[in-house]
Amino acid sequence: MFSRILIANRGEIALRIIRACHELGIEAVAVFSEADRGAPYLETADEAICIGPATPAKSYLNIPAIISAAEVADVDAIHPGYGFLAENAHFAEICQECGITFIGPDAKSMRMLGDKVQARLVAQKARVPLVPGSEGELKDEAEAIKLANKIGYPVILKAAAGGGGRGMRVAHNDISLHKAFAAARAEAEAAFKNGALYLEKYIVEPRHVEVQVMADKSGNAVHFYERDCTIQRRHQKLIEESPCPVLDEKTREELCRSALRLVHEAKYHNAATVEFLLDRDKNFYFIEVNTRIQVEHPVTELVTGQDLIKWQIQIAAGNPLTLRQRDIKHTGVAMECRINAEDPARNFAPCPGPIHRFIVPGGPGVRVDTHLAQGSVVSPYYDSMVAKLIVHQPTREQAIATMKRALREFRIEPIKTTIPACLKILSHNLFVKNQVDTSFIERHMSS
Ligand code: ADP
Repeated sequence: MFSRILIANRGEIALRIIRACHELGIEAVAVFSEADRGAPYLETADEAICIGPATPAKSYLNIPAIISAAEVADVDAIHPGYGFLAENAHFAEICQECGITFIGPDAKSMRMLGDKVQARLVAQKARVPLVPGSEGELKDEAEAIKLANKIGYPVILKAAAGGGGRGMRVAHNDISLHKAFAAARAEAEAAFKNGALYLEKYIVEPRHVEVQVMADKSGNAVHFYERDCTIQRRHQKLIEESPCPVLDEKTREELCRSALRLVHEAKYHNAATVEFLLDRDKNFYFIEVNTRIQVEHPVTELVTGQDLIKWQIQIAAGNPLTLRQRDIKHTGVAMECRINAEDPARNFAPCPGPIHRFIVPGGPGVRVDTHLAQGSVVSPYYDSMVAKLIVHQPTREQAIATMKRALREFRIEPIKTTIPACLKILSHNLFVKNQVDTSFIERHMSS
């Protein structure tokens, strides 16, 4: 087992990993930028090292600075969290070359599944249902138009290297596809330095359902059931829950088995999330794999009673998955609201600043993952998420009730947050009746 781990991240996920390390008897080394200096969560680490200025490129994305910190602190492994370097295969390779274990998959499978065009090919080999679309990268606009006419409009153009909802464009006819092609290519070039595009049929009114899997280095893999992340704003998840409230047992079983076939095909190890879209007729289609732990992992932890971060560490250390599939039970309903420092009244504009009042909810069935405290400052340099509020109850109705009362207890002042927006969604008739799709917020919450 490792004795010291460096966490190449910040905020709530850094704290989450520090906690897992300590429960495993491992020392945790945090890194921080000048903007995060003095943040209370850093005190929970056994050591904290400044790696540069506020700008992510100069600190949390600065590979030489992070590797130097790891060398100085003499760690055995690095946990990348999510975001920043978590899906950077080059970083995983450098860690390996320096004799430091990267807590995640190896660079090869990360590269393969991180490229959405290649991931589609792997899924196809593993007999996982795919959204109809291009076999590989699109050569040019003419090929896109030909294919769109073959599979039928609407279609969605996506960046092979895409992520975070960027580089995607929907087109309803040849004219809009012509415009979308240039725009998507430019956006992909700018965001990912890779203009490769592919095309898929645009699934109308889908739900987003994803399967959490974990595989060890000997090829044993298990799934931890699904999460439903249909409530999104601009393709960014806002509320997640498990189980998916509209899935029947047979479809759930097929979905989870598909995800396992895919990770076996990719000879993958460590945590992965296999994402799917579910159409109105309950057909599911693979869309992508995330080769890291995800923001919404606590939802799965609450319904399965498993600690996914500890499993990531165990597996990276070369220990076998001692869980068999039948040992993993799904109990009750868990739901997560992402509390972001954003102003819903001003089109969700980021709302950084100092927090003078911070009162965290508690009580039965409530978990709060946050790195903030009264007196903390939400930095304008990073992601606007200030807390994750997660609840667990026997039924969905009870989970919604607990979530609402916990959201009302939460005090984060004077900055604006997504709490009022979450409360509105949770009270919406269509959400309560499970009649939502990924466009729910845009369509029903614009006011
Ligand atoms: P990213 O990696 O940028 O997050 P994804 O491929 O995971 O992109 O897609 C993000 C979201 O975009 C999905 O959850 C869904 O809401 C929407 N989406 C993606 N592909 C399709 C599709 N073929 N049809 C309809 N919606 C889609």
